[in-house]
Amino acid sequence: MKVPMLDLHAQYEPLMNDIRKQIDLVLANHHYIMGPQVKEFEEKMQNYLGIKHAIGCANGTDALVLAIKALGIGVDDEVITTPFTFFATASSIWRNHAKPVFVDIDPKTFNLDPDKIEAAITPNTKAIMPVHLFGQPADMDRIMAIAKKHQLYVIEDNAQGIGSTWNGKMTCSYGDIGTLSFFPSKNLGAMGDAGMCLSNNDELAANLRQLRVHGENPRYFHKWVGLNSRLDTMQAAILMVKLDALAAWSEGRRINAAFYDEQLKDVSQIQTPYIDPKAVTIYNQYTMICENRDGLMKHLSERNIGCAVYYPLPLHVQECFSSLGYKKGDMPISEMMAEKVLSIPIYAELTMEMKQYVTDSIKEFYN
Ligand SMILES: *Cc1c(COP(=O)(O)O)cnc(C)c1O
Repeated sequence: MKVPMLDLHAQYEPLMNDIRKQIDLVLANHHYIMGPQVKEFEEKMQNYLGIKHAIGCANGTDALVLAIKALGIGVDDEVITTPFTFFATASSIWRNHAKPVFVDIDPKTFNLDPDKIEAAITPNTKAIMPVHLFGQPADMDRIMAIAKKHQLYVIEDNAQGIGSTWNGKMTCSYGDIGTLSFFPSKNLGAMGDAGMCLSNNDELAANLRQLRVHGENPRYFHKWVGLNSRLDTMQAAILMVKLDALAAWSEGRRINAAFYDEQLKDVSQIQTPYIDPKAVTIYNQYTMICENRDGLMKHLSERNIGCAVYYPLPLHVQECFSSLGYKKGDMPISEMMAEKVLSIPIYAELTMEMKQYVTDSIKEFYN
């Protein structure tokens, strides 16, 4: 038995004909940059998420860079975010010449701890950037209340949380701008790079639409220095087909998670994911807190079971950010989680035999 971390072929096979048809349509009219499929996909996403404006771009990292730029955040400004996330969350702040200010996480949800945010606010703070890590929504009630009190913007890094809800409302729709990544391993994955910004604010949406095309409006006239960061027509065409399947995939992941939860509930060396009662997650990852994590990882790898550590080194201690002055010990929860977390396969196409093999192998290790 072999259980890969992700099986994109299993996802592709039932959609193959539809995807190829859409690709052929793009190839038939050669409208590769900002073709009609881009707008069509953006409109579909607006409907799916219930957000007024969707602005496609080249990848999820650029979506964050564009979001920060559109809000006018730059030199000497500070943005509060989590150190326990993918690199792009903080690099997008850095690349706008602003300063990432890290706040430690809640050990249950792996997300920005609302209790620690206010102590990090200074006169230079401009925004809070929560991440809905692994698909688990951050506490948007408390984050929005803090932002309102201190007049800060909120940018939701929703790269891992497409379709997750907090209080019945989609993640991405709480803040001033939300961002998505369609990196192939995200729940809605392109066949290459792609990303998107979402906003209910007309003015911000207009800024974002200009910033993704070099900041030009009209053509060849530039108010800002923007990016060249458009969503590929080809990727938009592919993503449209996949979007129709997304809700079913997310449900499949939740069913798999429920199976793991049940099978692993008596394994005292493991904590299965905590899900806040206000949240519905799409399980971009199923991430456990494990005793002897590295031993378990080795055991699973030997049994041909894919698993991965997201993330092994928190961002406040990354070499490239050393000038920010953080040191080991500053974010103890994030640092502890970096040593204990392990994600196991959760994609919708897993069979019952595969899931059983995964949980049996975990139990075997701890026995
Ligand atoms: C994947 C990811 C990104 C970046 O997306 P890309 O499309 O790979 O540029 C940003 N933030 C988080 C939390 C991610 O998981």
